Amino acid sequence: MALLQISEPGQTTAPHQRNYAAGIDLGTTNSLVAINRSGQVETLPDNDNNHLLPSVVHYAENDIIVGHAAQNLQAADPLNTLSSVKRIMGRGIEDVKSLGNVLPYEFDGNNDSAVPRIMTRQKSVSAIEVSAEILSVLSNRAEQTMGEALSGVVITVPAYFDDAQRQATRDAAKLADLNVYRLLNEPTAAAVAYGLDQQAEGMIAVYDLGGGTFDISILNLTRGVFEVLATGGNSSLGGDDMDHAIAEWLIEQAEIKAIDAKVIRNLLIASRKAKEDLTQQESTLIDLPQLGFSLTLDRTQFNHLVEDLVNKTLMSCRRALRDAKIEKEEINNVVMVGGSTRVPLVVDQVGKFFNCTPLTDLDPDRVVAIGAALQADVLAGNKPDQELLLLDVLPLSLCIETMGGLSEKIISRNTPIPVARAQEFTTFKDGQTAMAIHVVQGERELVSDCRSLAHFELRGIPPMTAGAARIKVTYQVDADGLMSVMAEELSSGVKADIVIKPSYGLTDGEIETMLRDSMSHAKEDIDARMRAEQQVEAQRVIEAIDSALTKDGHDLLNDNEFKAITVARNELEKVLQSATTEELKVAIKSIEVISEEYVAKRMNASVQKVLSGKNINEVEV
Ligand code: ADP
Ligand code: MG
Repeated sequence: MALLQISEPGQTTAPHQRNYAAGIDLGTTNSLVAINRSGQVETLPDNDNNHLLPSVVHYAENDIIVGHAAQNLQAADPLNTLSSVKRIMGRGIEDVKSLGNVLPYEFDGNNDSAVPRIMTRQKSVSAIEVSAEILSVLSNRAEQTMGEALSGVVITVPAYFDDAQRQATRDAAKLADLNVYRLLNEPTAAAVAYGLDQQAEGMIAVYDLGGGTFDISILNLTRGVFEVLATGGNSSLGGDDMDHAIAEWLIEQAEIKAIDAKVIRNLLIASRKAKEDLTQQESTLIDLPQLGFSLTLDRTQFNHLVEDLVNKTLMSCRRALRDAKIEKEEINNVVMVGGSTRVPLVVDQVGKFFNCTPLTDLDPDRVVAIGAALQADVLAGNKPDQELLLLDVLPLSLCIETMGGLSEKIISRNTPIPVARAQEFTTFKDGQTAMAIHVVQGERELVSDCRSLAHFELRGIPPMTAGAARIKVTYQVDADGLMSVMAEELSSGVKADIVIKPSYGLTDGEIETMLRDSMSHAKEDIDARMRAEQQVEAQRVIEAIDSALTKDGHDLLNDNEFKAITVARNELEKVLQSATTEELKVAIKSIEVISEEYVAKRMNASVQKVLSGKNINEVEV
């Protein structure tokens, strides 16, 4: 029963038995598989010694072909040869329409499924099915190499993938009959490949420049927990643009006049080769006898050609740092990922920008798969003394108490730890300067039905109108199972934090009961939740009325009007705790009706103030 599966993967096997677990980088252009082979993590090649498997699937009459062979058929049979499907994983039909020029396929308009399906001569297929074909080839490669079935895999996904995109990736793995230990963010995998999770603390920038895309991720690593602070980049910027820049230069230099598709193709192939040569050499000869020229391109000229492109990536870095709200000096490590980071100018410029030496020792094509394999090995239970707690999942959700005694989940149960999640809250009253934070654990809607873990208070919030403060509450569970909570008022930077220890003292039996309860009480819980929400709403109305009446009640209302509103307000307060959801709704509505005119007068008054020359910021409606 899935509901009760709360033990960690890999734990049931005998301690000395080795579980083979693979890491899979399921890429837009290329995919790879890596595995720990007798202590050494390496990517696995096919029979032709290719480590990279092009993420291309060809649907033939009776066959499905994946990889290089499929890529070779792409020009001849584009509609039945699918590539770059990662771009539509977890996307709806509407999203796909806007990608029409990127993915020139025929979508099946006659199906009720929410997932877009591409027509091929065999059948119509979704991105999930196409990805499953790629995953199968890679897992078969691993199983053949090791001569044994895989116990599970870690698959990497871009840090910006949302829930739907992640779920689609999991579904693809399920179709390929793989046991997914977890999905891992690509930049995190790259950082893990360099062992940063073992040694360093602090901010990490992962700079990933591939063939057609650029991704920058800013990670914060604390006690083995990676938190993604920001992601950015450009989904149409990469090594291909360098090839184009060289090709344009060639056209200019050789004064090529007759340009057709074939000429461009030849120019691009030669340009790409020249670019890759210049990684090792200071200059290279571009010889195209069929076009009647031969030219030397040196590194200085090449750098000049691609400098704008590199600058564009740095602009994205600047933006990501701003989103992460950190300065570039705060970055401790820069990890280079993607084939195009082999270009020396890229490493130079990135190093200058961050003022440090970027990490380039590992093959930038393989670094993500290697990190995934390292993680898979730990999750399979092969490293009993190392980071064992990476295996842990949260047995019950960690929640926060919100107004009305409701429990709001911050981290859902079964999330692998270590993990850190943040959520923003605001103040409820005008001028509120402190906020009580109640940390609870459990699946039920009401705090009283969950387990209380800790109380703490955030003090010193600058007084603001209700709803103006922005309080970021971060829950973090580290590799040791220690939970800490931090709260920060974002505009003032006021902070408070607490460490909770031990975090989970519940027995498995208790957990089971709590889970069962949350199922059988679902209906009851929803009713209770709705009532609690109405109570919160009622209280909000009372607060608003009080605050308004104190400010200008006596100026804008005559005694009778003032009294009518006060009576209704008091009535609502009196029934607040005892009334049913419906009764509360009625009482709130009646206050709204009674104070309608007052609200109008207040708005008028503030408009008058503005007209009399006051700054709009001084006016409160
Ligand atoms: P993607 O992430 O899009 O799948 P990759 O990370 O595999 O792409 O990178 C592919 C890009 O890397 C191509 O543009 C390729 O020309 C470039 N590349 C590969 N090797 C080199 C090299 N030695 N020098 C410069 N660019 C290279
Ligand atoms: Mg890539």
